[in-house]
Amino acid sequence: MQIRLLLLQAFVAAVLAAQNQPVLGEETVKVSDHVWAIMGWPNVAIVVGSRATLVVDTGLGPRNGATIARVTARLAPGNQKLFLTTTHFHPEHAGGEAGFPGGTILIRNAVQQSEMELHGKEMIDLFAGRSAQFKELLANAVPRAPDITFERDAQLDLGGVTARLLWFGGAHIKGDELTFVEPDRTLVSGDVVQNKVVPGIFRDGGTPSSWLAARTPESASKVSSKRSTRLGRI
Ligand SMILES: [Zn+2]
Repeated sequence: MQIRLLLLQAFVAAVLAAQNQPVLGEETVKVSDHVWAIMGWPNVAIVVGSRATLVVDTGLGPRNGATIARVTARLAPGNQKLFLTTTHFHPEHAGGEAGFPGGTILIRNAVQQSEMELHGKEMIDLFAGRSAQFKELLANAVPRAPDITFERDAQLDLGGVTARLLWFGGAHIKGDELTFVEPDRTLVSGDVVQNKVVPGIFRDGGTPSSWLAARTPESASKVSSKRSTRLGRI
């Protein structure tokens, strides 16, 4: 019981510390040859090819989405095509879509999209009730329909680099999406793998066994993640 309590306290402290800083900055960290990250709440991945760019996750609300779009344009000024995907439907991961420029191609797996339709607005309202700052950031966070949905696996050829978008079943929630970048062998895990919080299962998302199945061993061999980089945080 004591261990459980300590874990819970550590979890709550980590979440509260992160949520105190919901505004993303414009600094990036280079993770691998084609992948940059804005480290924050949450970590946001930017995959840059010679023709197109993929952003994974939006930050909390349109203002953060616009920040990511600015950074992306600086990293790849010649790329006309911008893809956006989300690791899951929680507002700090998907609630900033409206800040991206018109013409951004939004893509996510079908299970995640149905969760968004069922609970997206409810979660935005829940988060907006947490503080005045959250309310302001989420003021114009209106989810829109994606341009592309897929069932289990989608590949984006960005020019010299390929992003594989993968759904392996429920883990943190039902529609978690993993992004595996080749040839970098970089994995963007979203909240499936959270620093010092495992397994981070939200409400009726996955079960401990489905969470394990989403990570190993079949899924691991499918993405050949010998060297993976965890960018996801709650
Ligand atoms: Zn989450």
